[in-house]
Amino acid sequence: METIKYIDKIREKIKNYNKQGKKIGFVPTMGALHDGHLSLIRQSLAENDITVASIFVNPIQFNNNEDLKNYPRPVESDLKKLGQAGCDIAFIPDENEIYPVPENRTFDFGQLDKVMEGKHRPGHFTGVATVVNRLFRIIEPHRAYFGEKDYQQLLIIKSLVKQLNLPVGITGCPIVREADGLAMSSRNALLEPVHRKNAGIIRKSLLEAAEMIKNEPVPYVIKAVTDEINKVPGFRVEYFEIADINTLQNIDKIAHGETAIGCIAVFAGKIRLIDNIKF
Ligand code: AMP
Repeated sequence: METIKYIDKIREKIKNYNKQGKKIGFVPTMGALHDGHLSLIRQSLAENDITVASIFVNPIQFNNNEDLKNYPRPVESDLKKLGQAGCDIAFIPDENEIYPVPENRTFDFGQLDKVMEGKHRPGHFTGVATVVNRLFRIIEPHRAYFGEKDYQQLLIIKSLVKQLNLPVGITGCPIVREADGLAMSSRNALLEPVHRKNAGIIRKSLLEAAEMIKNEPVPYVIKAVTDEINKVPGFRVEYFEIADINTLQNIDKIAHGETAIGCIAVFAGKIRLIDNIKF
């Protein structure tokens, strides 16, 4: 695997691959890699000739300075994991490479970024869209891979690509979980041991919700999940919403034959975890 820090260098490399008619798959990450990230790498490897992963902790998508400061950055072990997975290029730019001048572009995602993560993390999706747009323009991948764990992010990226007519196919990949059901996340390593021990409750209550929703009204299910998780010492549900799977707007009930999604954000101590389940 080749590790590249500079835009000029990676552009040259990609230009050569394009001349050879090779298809480029791209996996953007913020590092602290786990099996969830590596599942995206594997899917890209299976569907493309060349796989590029980026590691860039994007400061402008953090709405909380502590979170940015504490975000894990184990670059050496990340590069090792990417190499072992068979990734072809790791792109690890510095901040001034991606943002030579401050960014002030905004995007219009309609109602999509007014709910859930967009509502609770002001500016987050503008930051995500900005960096992904820049990375897409640098790497010009044929396909890019995003995890369904960040389901709203996946919809935002699809909307971005449509709005800007970017010639990249977006693939959503299933959530990879720990043995107790906790969705893998770079932030899991920051959990206090007792919170980590109890964190399986999030997946457990979402699975219960999937059963409950067959017979009970939406507000009842929301309250049941919220109460169950809030009972765990140190845990606090920030939101649990049941929504249309395409627009993420709240729904009162799931129409026959339709798929909905339940999205949750939970504070376990100071660490914020998200997850979702399709109904
Ligand atoms: P991040 O490094 O958190 O920005 O994540 C990079 C990519 O990996 C995003 O597309 C995430 O949705 C995806 N991802 C993170 N965790 C998981 C997981 N547990 N399963 C599948 N994909 C994931």
